[in-house]
Order: sequence, then C-alpha cells, then structure tokens
Amino acid sequence: MQLPRNPTRPVRIGSITIGGGNPIVVQSMCATKTCDVDATAAQVIQLARAGAGVVRIAVDNRRDVKALAAVRNRTDANLSVDLQENYELAADVAPLVEKIRYNPGHLYHHQPERPWQDKVRALADVAGNHDCALRVGVNCGSVDPAVRERFDPRDSIGPMLASALEHCEFLDSIGFLRYCVSLKDSNPAKVVEANRRFARLRGEVPLHLGVTEAGMPPEGILKTRVALEQLIRRGIGDTIRVSLTLPGARKHEEIESGRQILSDIAAGRLVDQEEYAATQKGLNIVSCPSCSRVENESFVELADRVRQITRYAADYPITIAVMGCRVNGPGETDSADLGLWCGPSYVNLKRGSRQVGRFGYDEILARLKDELDALIASRGCERR
Ligand code: SF4
Repeated sequence: MQLPRNPTRPVRIGSITIGGGNPIVVQSMCATKTCDVDATAAQVIQLARAGAGVVRIAVDNRRDVKALAAVRNRTDANLSVDLQENYELAADVAPLVEKIRYNPGHLYHHQPERPWQDKVRALADVAGNHDCALRVGVNCGSVDPAVRERFDPRDSIGPMLASALEHCEFLDSIGFLRYCVSLKDSNPAKVVEANRRFARLRGEVPLHLGVTEAGMPPEGILKTRVALEQLIRRGIGDTIRVSLTLPGARKHEEIESGRQILSDIAAGRLVDQEEYAATQKGLNIVSCPSCSRVENESFVELADRVRQITRYAADYPITIAVMGCRVNGPGETDSADLGLWCGPSYVNLKRGSRQVGRFGYDEILARLKDELDALIASRGCERR
C-alpha cells in the first residue's frame, strides 16, 4: 500500500529499496540461536513468507558467522546482520548480507582506545565494498555513555538524538550515504518525539521505526500502533518493525501485525489517542522480542507468567521489564521499577537500581510478587 512519505533518499537493501517514496517495508529479526542453522534458516523463511522485506540475524562470534554462511545458502531473503558489540566481525559477515546494523552505543566495548570514527569508517568501507546498506540503530537502553554524560540524566531523548545525528554527520563527511537510522525506546511517546525531532533536522535520511521491547501481544501491538500512527501519518518512516515477545512458531505475527498497522493507517482506522493515554496509567510490562542471545528458552513463558501473576496490580503505575539476556538486560531494565533478566539457569531481579539477587526459574515469580507487594506498600501506591 502507498502512504504519502517524506522525501527521504532511497537506500537499497538487496532486492528492496526503502525511502525515495517507496512503500514502507515491514521487517523482523530471528529469535533463534544463530548457530542453530536449521532453526535460523526456518525462521528466516517463515518471516519472509509472511512478507518480511528484510530479516535481521544477530552475530556474536565466529561460530555465528559460519552459521550465517550456511543460512545464506538456504534463502534469498534480504538479510541484515546485527553486530551487537562485535563490529570487528563486519568484514566476515558483509559478503553474506545486504545490510549491517550497528549500535553507536556498543562501539566502545571493543578496542575502547580506538576512536568511534575509525570504527564507523571501517564499517562504511566494508559495507561499500560488499554492496551493503548500514543502519545506525540507536536504542534508549544502550546510548553511547560519552554522549549520555553531556545531558541531564532525566533527558532520555536528547542523547539518542545527539548520537544519531553525530553518526549521520560523520557518515556524510566520509561520503557514505547508503544508510538509514532508527531511534527506539520502549515508550511510544518517546519514539514519536525522538523520530519527529530527527525528521525535522534530517528529513532526507530514511527512518526505521519501532517501539523496542513492546512486549507481548496484544499490548505490544497496541503500543507500536500508537507510535507508528503518529509518525507514518506525518510522512515519517520508511521501514518498520513490530518487536513482540512471541514463541518462535508465532514470530511471523510480527510481520502480520506490521502489515495490519500499515493497512489500518492507510484506511484511516486509527486508535483514539486520548482514550489510549487514559488506559496507560497503570501497570506496564515491557519485554524484549528475544534474539540469538536469549539465555534460556523459557524466556517467553517467563514473560507471559509475569504478566499473569501481576494482573492484580493492573491499576498501579508501575513498570516491570523482562529481558532475555545478561548483556542488555541490566541496561534495558534501568528505567523500570522492577527488572528481570535471564541467565542460563537463573533470573536476575532488581528493584530500581538495587540488585535484589538471582533466583531459579521456579523461584523467581514468588520473589517478584514479594517485591511488587513491597513496592506498592512502600509507595502507599496511588492507584490510577
Ligand atoms: S535483551 Fe538480550 S535477548 Fe532480548 S533482544 Fe536484547 S539482546 Fe536479545
């Protein structure tokens, strides 16, 4: 379907082009272990059949690179690689994919003494040599600490925006223009604000839109819909992802939801934003869509169990975040009242910034409920 778009420049990703007035592309990401070639190839095919224009795969190490090569041999889908912290793997994966996503906030982890500009130049060289596009993927929970410290800690949008803008400026300065940008947050209102501000400043750069860690359906779809409607109707956004916590067999629902949202926007079937805002003052559960890094296959079930056992607190203005791994879990739970993130055989729990401890999968729900009750009691918690 064709919705009026801002005049962004076209960026080709394999067989599709985003921006330049092209239809909005719906994309997704595999939640399988990348090194499980059969499962990953099957999920790529599942997503592509549902209509994904691009499928992203996380690569963490050389084993994953080898697996990605085997997956590449089984599909013609447009593949994007998520480099996580390992930007040094770009040269190995670029021949296998059509797009490379890097997170500016993860570049400092390896070779911290090397300036980020050198690293981005290396990424752009690799992308240029292998006919790949780049995505500068900025995420609320992992903004470059050097940028974050320039801002008031209460300002979460300023650092994201500044990080995206400085990377755009740098890529422009070295003549690499085949890139898009994403600015993701788990709060739909912040996604709208960040992307509107970016589009005002850099209207020619294609935008990848999404609400990160939107959670489980139907709540996660609604959160994403609310943000996307406000942007897409204004011509902002060239590709989208609906990030949902789903079991692997249902992962294609991300694509179906994205297509439905676009179709509804085109037909003028919109959410009543005021009505939505009135329903969002109670308990908020944030959970990641999982990826190759997820540390226990019970993660999706855990997120669902958290939703079930906390229903009694639905009217309290509390945010609980459930994340799938130890790498991003601590940062991505920072702004939640209660945070859980998975380890292989235990789940970490924190209340605000205080670590409560780590608990077995059979113990964690009871501990979470204790902490939730204590939080409600300590705040003399006002119901919404
Ligand atoms: S929190 Fe971890 S498991 Fe979840 S999507 Fe992010 S990197 Fe993947």
